[in-house]
Amino acid sequence: MAGRRRIPAPLGAHISIAGGTTQAPARAKAIGATAMQIFTKTANRWADRECDVVECKAFAAALAETDVRTTSAHDSYLINLASPDLLLRERSMHSYRAELRRCEALGLDFLVSHPGNYMDDRDSGLMRNAEAIGMALEAVPGKVRVLLEMTAGAGTVIGATFDEMARVIELIPEPYRSRTGVCVDTAHLFAAGYDLAGDYDGVWSRFDDVIGMDRLGMMHLNDSKAPLGSRRDRHELIGEGAIGEAPFRRIMNDERLAAIAKVIETPKLEPDVTDRAMLERLRSYIGVNERS
Ligand SMILES: [Zn+2]
Ligand SMILES: [Zn+2]
Repeated sequence: MAGRRRIPAPLGAHISIAGGTTQAPARAKAIGATAMQIFTKTANRWADRECDVVECKAFAAALAETDVRTTSAHDSYLINLASPDLLLRERSMHSYRAELRRCEALGLDFLVSHPGNYMDDRDSGLMRNAEAIGMALEAVPGKVRVLLEMTAGAGTVIGATFDEMARVIELIPEPYRSRTGVCVDTAHLFAAGYDLAGDYDGVWSRFDDVIGMDRLGMMHLNDSKAPLGSRRDRHELIGEGAIGEAPFRRIMNDERLAAIAKVIETPKLEPDVTDRAMLERLRSYIGVNERS
């Protein structure tokens, strides 16, 4: 390819925090990552925690020893900011504010959040979700940007269509809306019925029309075990699932996505080895653009 050489966008993986958040940067380095996503607590438990000064300093020092340029946390799976159940909603909002505080303390760029489940009525759920995000951002001022993740669309989950995601963001009042964006997970998009394999350009032009490329904050690169439109969230190794290799080649060479940090959440068959291989595979696609 002729022209200017560009620094490739940050590329990495979801990294384990076994032993504490301070252990994650070295793991990211070991697999050659330039982006890193972590949980900031045990994701499937309510128990909350704060990050103290000692942890934050050690985390920053460990991160400085790596080439990681973009960092994100994924929020707890238990949080449902769209729930009509008052107790669950209160618990979720409490936990979500703690997620934001930990991201701020650790100096992370993004908090990736799954929109909630509306349970009863979709429109009310969208409003509850947007209101809760606005309130959390109001309660925790700072720099971290909340990225709402596109979902596969199982059950009553919000955010499986571009229209619905755009609506949630629109319902978040300014100035908090400016601190939000979208995270696109390729496996979720495909399971939700967006055919990245058969209509790559169509999917992205629809995304741009409805949500806007300027709202895209980061991407999760995962192939899908589940077929197009199945609404099932099953991640597969890059190029080895129902999406296949070609769309990932397009993504790695897409000018519109050139500055967007990309993180894999693919199965870890062997600790480190699989993730390192997946990142090498994705890097090998750069400059080798196959049009499908
Ligand atoms: Zn997610
Ligand atoms: Zn997923």
